[in-house]
Amino acid sequence: MIFRAGMRLVVVHNQVMMRIERYLRVPENATEAGGILIGCYRGPHIEITECSEPLRRDRRAQLRFDRDDPGHQGLAKRRWTESGRTHTFVGEWHTHPGFSSTPSGIDLKTWREVTRNNLAGSSVFLIRGGDGWWAGLGAGRILTRMSIVPPDDE
Ligand SMILES: [Zn+2]
Repeated sequence: MIFRAGMRLVVVHNQVMMRIERYLRVPENATEAGGILIGCYRGPHIEITECSEPLRRDRRAQLRFDRDDPGHQGLAKRRWTESGRTHTFVGEWHTHPGFSSTPSGIDLKTWREVTRNNLAGSSVFLIRGGDGWWAGLGAGRILTRMSIVPPDDE
């Protein structure tokens, strides 16, 4: 799937989309799920090749996901080393099972913090809700909603 914000594209590998969508189905849809997005920067564009999934120490609730397990950041660090410093944390994802994918006030607040802490790069924010995807790009302190590029234009 490809998302666009102005001239910038974010390419998400199908495998990543499918992994996330699994958390909308029984039994995983009883609570929110989430993780980080791992990928690489390609000029102004971002390619997302992998995602982490909920880990034991994360807190999952019906309307809340807190990524508390240090394993997510551990995975990003491993990929950074293994890839020769090309693949790293490029953002995060979570689900809104059965609800709209529109970000909550807490989501926007969290994303602003992530964007501020990642001034060197851009951050991608994905929500998969009951009504589809919501994608945002945080860059230079500004969060922009991305549109979906129709498959025919890919
Ligand atoms: Zn949310």
